[in-house]
Amino acid sequence: MTEHTQEVAQLILSSKRVVVFSGAGLSTESGIPDFRSPGGVWDRYNPEDFYFQNFVASEASREKYWKMATEMYEPMKKAQPNLAHLAIAVLEKLGKLDCVITQNIDGLHAKAGNSEEKILELHGTAMHVTCLDCGKRYDRDEIQERLSREFKVPYCDDCKGPLKPATISFGQSMPERETQEAYHRSSISDLFIVIGSSLVVQPAASMPLVAKRNGAKLVIINRDPTPYDDMADIVIHTQAGPTMTNIIEEVKKELKKID
Ligand SMILES: [Zn+2]
Repeated sequence: MTEHTQEVAQLILSSKRVVVFSGAGLSTESGIPDFRSPGGVWDRYNPEDFYFQNFVASEASREKYWKMATEMYEPMKKAQPNLAHLAIAVLEKLGKLDCVITQNIDGLHAKAGNSEEKILELHGTAMHVTCLDCGKRYDRDEIQERLSREFKVPYCDDCKGPLKPATISFGQSMPERETQEAYHRSSISDLFIVIGSSLVVQPAASMPLVAKRNGAKLVIINRDPTPYDDMADIVIHTQAGPTMTNIIEEVKKELKKID
């Protein structure tokens, strides 16, 4: 137990609105490859092929998109929540979590046990598929099963509109409700904990700034330095899993004392 983990535990105990912000680092600790890193999916596909405008405009683009999306979905489907996801779920059970804002699309916060209304997915989710015309939602596995029988671009059962994973693609606007809610939650939080994000993808990366400007304490737990390290109250450069476990154990211990 380091001094830092104890300090973070104390901050959690003394705060009323704790917001957790999670990024790709959390997914990679669950074995999901970071598709932006060298050797990732982007090396084998041309990202331009996956602009939302192209998906809407051409059947050939939709086919390429679904091939890549199918490849990316495999490791996500198999992935299990890691210690950090589980710690965040415990935070909710202890009544110490306002919400978790995530840039991840892998559904692992829900799998770990966080309730749906506590999770704000800024980049959408790979666990569902939506019809671009009528908005009907499908379970991802159901659509992948169709594709495994016969690989062709899937269309809506109801309106024949094109189906797309419910993730936010290049050129597609951020989900309005989630984004607004995330900014609002950030602005009224009194403790903002970044876990596994390098805070470089905008606009999400500006949320710690919003929190800090409105008086929240800022904690950053990330393997690598981030552009916001200097303004953070506590920075821990490490793997999130074991650190979060230590922090939660400390929080539990203190709560027992209070009982
Ligand atoms: Zn439809």
